[in-house]
Amino acid sequence: MRYISTRGAAPALAFDEALLAGLARDGGLYVPESWPQFSAADIRSLSGLDYVELAVRVMAPFLGGRIPEADFAALVEDAYAGFNHAAVVPLKQLDGRTWLMELFHGPTLAFKDVAMQLLGRLFDYVLRRRGERVTIVGATSGDTGSAAIEACRDRDTIDIFILHPLGRVSEVQRRQMTTVDSPNVWNIAVEGTFDDCQDLLKAMFNDAQFRDEMNLSAVNSINWARVMAQVVYYFAAAVALGAPERAVAFAVPTGNFGNVYAGYAAREMGLAIDQLVIGSNSNDVLTRFLATGQMTIESVRPTLSPSMDIQVSSNVERLLFDLYERDGVALSKAMASFRRNGRLAVGDDRWRAARALFDGFRLDDADTLQAIAEVYRQSGELLDPHTAIGVAAGHACYRRHGAVPMVALATAHPAKFPEAVERATGLRPAMPNRLADLFGRPERADILPNDLRVVQAFMRDRRTKGGA
Ligand SMILES: *Cc1c(COP(=O)(O)O)cnc(C)c1O
Repeated sequence: MRYISTRGAAPALAFDEALLAGLARDGGLYVPESWPQFSAADIRSLSGLDYVELAVRVMAPFLGGRIPEADFAALVEDAYAGFNHAAVVPLKQLDGRTWLMELFHGPTLAFKDVAMQLLGRLFDYVLRRRGERVTIVGATSGDTGSAAIEACRDRDTIDIFILHPLGRVSEVQRRQMTTVDSPNVWNIAVEGTFDDCQDLLKAMFNDAQFRDEMNLSAVNSINWARVMAQVVYYFAAAVALGAPERAVAFAVPTGNFGNVYAGYAAREMGLAIDQLVIGSNSNDVLTRFLATGQMTIESVRPTLSPSMDIQVSSNVERLLFDLYERDGVALSKAMASFRRNGRLAVGDDRWRAARALFDGFRLDDADTLQAIAEVYRQSGELLDPHTAIGVAAGHACYRRHGAVPMVALATAHPAKFPEAVERATGLRPAMPNRLADLFGRPERADILPNDLRVVQAFMRDRRTKGGA
């Protein structure tokens, strides 16, 4: 198994190389050169396995022999041992045809832990074998930063620096980052906006000397291994609900398209997925794309579901690659013109192909609060705003015959967004025990000006000087 770039001009890489590379050198995203196939018998044989066993079976073909299976199984087991539920990602029936898959039982209460907890361990394993270390740097406006910090903390092959805009992240999200007391974790509160943080990040990666000196790396959502880890729970849900004998549909609150793309991948691998519903907030580039066949860039609007406040969903490029029949040159041209004109029309055939599988539905903040209230009234379940968007989109787009269950992915614990939940229901969701003392823990962050030189000097000074 090798990985190729969606832009067709970077060398094909093995699994561990694609893991460390993140983005391809031609600006593309890595995808497997072909999809591993699971027959009906293969899928039947997954039933009754626990999450870790199932995860190892589903992911093994993606490794291409680069990590011995016993080592990989140990990493997977360790990654999910810290989840707060015996089922790791429990499935709960919500109504006659809707199930909720709770992906938020990891250390930071959001679905990103499912992939990130494995990613941190994979990085550490591969770097250790190579005798290398990396500096991971990221910019965050919310969930990604804390998930990355929890995944990389206390690993002596990694230093991690996370930039967040000073005073512009929620208190829960800030504290989840700044209360991690680990010598390889550095929180930088930038005197600026999230866009300033992202610009600093880009400038660091464009500074070739700094990049090489620090061995910079990223764990953002374009990393292939994150998609791979997310494919697993689509299999787990489908098997629990009767696959391969019965088809399933999924509803996914979507920002960067990483989560729902993993569902697409599962389908390409042979899982009978009938429908993928994309739920979006007012930043609705994807639902507009499904409605019109055109992608257009608009400015980002802040909403009650901040982890979906994204205009350009980077992982869509992986879907487009398949829609363009894996012609990297053609896609590369289309993406360049998209960057130039802020507009991409994919053509009727590709649009129709996308619509055969995907549906999209948009909720603004008022709709989102209403969805939280409605689900609470009908089932007693408190949903966070992201999850509520997925559930409501699933209800709105349900278009198949009644035998197909709709699995809505619950991407955050309601206690992570208590204000919105309280506004909608009058109830303040309780923080799970593991984070009950979050507001009493000491915080650690360094406030720096929005100045590349200053941030770079800070990073040079603080990182652990390893032997490499
Ligand atoms: C990141 C995130 C999303 C969006 O997931 P994508 O993979 O970016 O589409 C949805 N909900 C929550 C809570 C998230 O943290």
